[in-house]
Amino acid sequence: MEKQAVLETIDNLLIIQERDNRIAQCQRELNSIPIRQKETETWITQAREALDQSKEALKVKQASIKQLELDIESCRQQIIKFREQQYQIKSNVEFRALNNEIAHVQEKIRGLEDREIVLMEQTEQAQAEVARRKSDVETDEVRIREQLQNLEKRREVLEQDIQQIQKDRSGLVTGVNPAWLSRYNHVMDHKKDMALVSIENNACGQCHMTLPPQVIHDTRKSEAIVTCSFCGRILYWTR
Ligand SMILES: [Zn+2]
Repeated sequence: MEKQAVLETIDNLLIIQERDNRIAQCQRELNSIPIRQKETETWITQAREALDQSKEALKVKQASIKQLELDIESCRQQIIKFREQQYQIKSNVEFRALNNEIAHVQEKIRGLEDREIVLMEQTEQAQAEVARRKSDVETDEVRIREQLQNLEKRREVLEQDIQQIQKDRSGLVTGVNPAWLSRYNHVMDHKKDMALVSIENNACGQCHMTLPPQVIHDTRKSEAIVTCSFCGRILYWTR
């Protein structure tokens, strides 16, 4: 091939390579979108789990209060029974013995009531916690909906960009020397990043291995396809 034709081919391929790099970049971002969508949905799962846990903790406290109230009530019933028994008996000793029993149960009631007060305070805190987490979930739901909408919009933009660049690319490849184009496509398919690289300080611009003098000489002549002896990418000489 004539040097001028080779130089033109390289110029065209560099433009095509720029488009291919842009397509690859868009594609990478596009591939990351489902992962980012999943991550976003994880936030809400965590917030909902935290809410469920605080609701469960509240239920436990409320059940404990109910149980304490039942215990207090049964103590009161016991006192009523003791009082009824006191009507039946005549001996002072037995009467005092029952008074002692009553005092003992009253003491037990006070203990239960003290625990109930503590539990009621804890229930209030647990209710506040449920309210706080409910509002967290609501805030997160709004944020997540926005984030998912943004990701969806971004996906559409990227798909349109890829389509546009591909259309642009198919216009650019017409007229490019078929042998060069097919080699370029082959290398790009394998390497994914660069198919056409310049020589920098006597080394391949991509794999950075120092090239044999003959390869440098042939590349500089710009009359045929010359590839890097190490990575197989097509080499060109920067004018
Ligand atoms: Zn190389």
